[in-house]
Amino acid sequence: MATVLDIAKRNPNAAPVTVSDAARAAGFIEKTAELNVAAGAAPGGASLVGLTRDQLKDSLAAIGVAERELKMRVAQLWHWIYFRGAKDFAEMTNVGKELRAKLAAAYTLARPQVVSEQVSKDGTRKWLIRMPSTGPLDKGAEIECVYIPEVDRGTLCVSSQVGCTLTCSFCHTGTQRLVRNLTSAEIVAQLIVARDSIGDWPDATPPEGAFVPTDGGRFVSNIVFMGMGEPLYNIGDVVAAIDVMSDGEGLTLSRRRITVSTSGVVPQMERLGSQANTMLAISLHAVRDELRDELVPINRKYDIKQLLDACRAYPGLSNARRITFEYVMLKGVNDSDADARELVRLLKGIPAKINLIPFNPWPGSKYECSDWERIERFSEIVYRAGYASPVRTPRGRDILAACGQLKSETEKLRARARMMAEQVIGAEGIYALRDGE
Ligand code: SAH
Ligand code: SF4
Repeated sequence: MATVLDIAKRNPNAAPVTVSDAARAAGFIEKTAELNVAAGAAPGGASLVGLTRDQLKDSLAAIGVAERELKMRVAQLWHWIYFRGAKDFAEMTNVGKELRAKLAAAYTLARPQVVSEQVSKDGTRKWLIRMPSTGPLDKGAEIECVYIPEVDRGTLCVSSQVGCTLTCSFCHTGTQRLVRNLTSAEIVAQLIVARDSIGDWPDATPPEGAFVPTDGGRFVSNIVFMGMGEPLYNIGDVVAAIDVMSDGEGLTLSRRRITVSTSGVVPQMERLGSQANTMLAISLHAVRDELRDELVPINRKYDIKQLLDACRAYPGLSNARRITFEYVMLKGVNDSDADARELVRLLKGIPAKINLIPFNPWPGSKYECSDWERIERFSEIVYRAGYASPVRTPRGRDILAACGQLKSETEKLRARARMMAEQVIGAEGIYALRDGE
């Protein structure tokens, strides 16, 4: 039987983590790794869905496609998988029969499993998606993904990690014990699952009664990395996934309609701008370090000044390409007039939008959402200073799909596997692995 150590070595991106409630209570910034699990490989033939061009090329080479043919074959597969949404190699009519048979023998076009789909009264959809198992100890990580339709756009909120290593005090995801990075294929697969479900392929139609944009554009026109996880702690796979999502011959999402939200991982912000060239959102939430240290503990590593300096240096910033500053409205905590004025002062000189988010409570959360009058007053101060400050309408509240409410059940599934792992290699082995990485 493969040991956990073997599995972990095969995937340098895997970073599963747990935190004890005591550690969280003691105010740890991040949780620590306990167990590594590789991501991606489905039993009975790996899926090609979500792969980058290079990965597809390797997959074709592995079944004996000649070097001189690779480029052309990758282009064909790319078109079928990402432009048409093909689910079966048999659909690929311009690919020779022999190669189709070889592909079908070695690979699949399987999507990750949709465990559940919930549709809100307001048309918001939330999917619980289970990634394929990666080995005997892994039942498959679960993540959530949310689709928010409006008349003139459809926004997909994707996850970048299972859970989150960070522990923001107002965020439900931050309480999740199990964490690992998603692979780029698993990130892309969320968009594929959404397009399947709402019929967003050339020959597909939306399910009866579904709320989708009616402006003639794609049903998924925007992506926000605002689901589970801190995208900049998984920057390599996030950048690779954005490359696939924005490819003009496939999924064709505009990079300007992709927004990556970070709690403030300052050292990776430049890389995001220069390599992914997407829009940036910053989870600011407080205007004084003392309070931000508590709400967004990564602030203890990179404080507000460092964060705003990194924003000023973000590649491609202009009045047409502004940074969105997210600010969650917490009653009596960060919502005074003085906070609003300080927010405006801090952002001076940065091309910015301010997004006020009503706090979404979750079972056991210790905050309340600011009163509506308070939010209006706060927004008024920000508006008078020259910022449009839309208050984000909570969507999908009835299905717990709103910001910061995503938390999967995976950790429960994992508890048993963790026990088994400890029996197999012993807890010291696990810690040795973390130290050796
Ligand atoms: N980890 C990234 C992206 C995911 S969170 C980040 O923190 O930016 C997406 C947004 O939802 C962030 O601004 C986050 O602070 C906010 N959020 C988290 N919990 C929330 C809650 N309970 N109510 C409202 N917004 C919340
Ligand atoms: Fe992680 Fe973002 Fe939640 Fe903080 S707000 S715990 S960074 S998902």
